[in-house]
Amino acid sequence: MHTINADLHCHSTVSDGTLEPEALAARAARNGVQLWALTDHDEVGGQARAAAAARAQGLDYLTGVEVSVTFAGVSVHVVGLGFDPADARLREGLARTRDGRGERAHQIAAELAKAGIDGAYEGALAHAGNPRMIARTHFARFLVDAGVCADTDQVFRRYLVEGKPGYVPHRWAALGDAVRWIVDAGGVAVVAHPGRCRFTPTEEYALFSEFAAHGGRGVEVVTGSHTPAEYAKYADVAQEFGLLASRGSDFHAPAESRIDLGTLPPLPPPLTPVWAELQHRVQRA
Ligand code: AMP
Ligand code: MN
Ligand code: MN
Ligand code: MN
Repeated sequence: MHTINADLHCHSTVSDGTLEPEALAARAARNGVQLWALTDHDEVGGQARAAAAARAQGLDYLTGVEVSVTFAGVSVHVVGLGFDPADARLREGLARTRDGRGERAHQIAAELAKAGIDGAYEGALAHAGNPRMIARTHFARFLVDAGVCADTDQVFRRYLVEGKPGYVPHRWAALGDAVRWIVDAGGVAVVAHPGRCRFTPTEEYALFSEFAAHGGRGVEVVTGSHTPAEYAKYADVAQEFGLLASRGSDFHAPAESRIDLGTLPPLPPPLTPVWAELQHRVQRA
């Protein structure tokens, strides 16, 4: 079960990836992935295409989504796996979570204009495969194209994070709501890349306690966003809170993502993989 090459976190043009769902499925198959999930931000519009492409490539498939949440004033991402993508309350909740993105994008562009960078809204929109899902990633790609920064990592360091000139605070979904939408739609909720949140130990304890109390069941242990030391740390967190463990590259784009689909190390053996509990939700190739 641990040795299955499962990659349960990546993005397509339906959110802020640069590849179509079909191209991602082909890339996953080429890299030896056996069980795959497409987890676009706040959007399930790519799920039917991803499931069909998985079947065509001989991959087992779990439905996926990555919900943007605000917890203790910080953005936390919650991955949902194995839910029914037609579920009305889930779709409504995701639509509400996406709603603020257009206005936020105009505000980000206004902040960048103050820093001397014009045309950022139109520039970012031109990179967005889905105009309802305009993300900081699209601004980052515009700023690289415009020659302002050398790569998207540099854009985030200089412009799009708290304390920098292109940052706009935003309120996403509540933790309990995101977990409930996923669980009520038949899925399992997983805390995505917790190592990226930079919480104090007290805040992190509160996150996992509340997450579990709301019915959250999993945590990403092996992800493209964690260091090997963080694999070990979140393996311990999984055991402490009795959570299932997940594995996913968080692949976005060939030119940007350090970690390709299906290339991460396996989960540490004492953990129970999230897919062990989702066998009844797997769409077989
Ligand atoms: P948003 O949902 O619009 O706030 O955008 C968040 C997205 O920006 C994430 O899903 C990542 O794809 C990307 N991102 C966030 N921080 C960084 C970073 N430091 N370097 C590169 N990409 C980042
Ligand atoms: Mn992203
Ligand atoms: Mn994320
Ligand atoms: Mn992601």
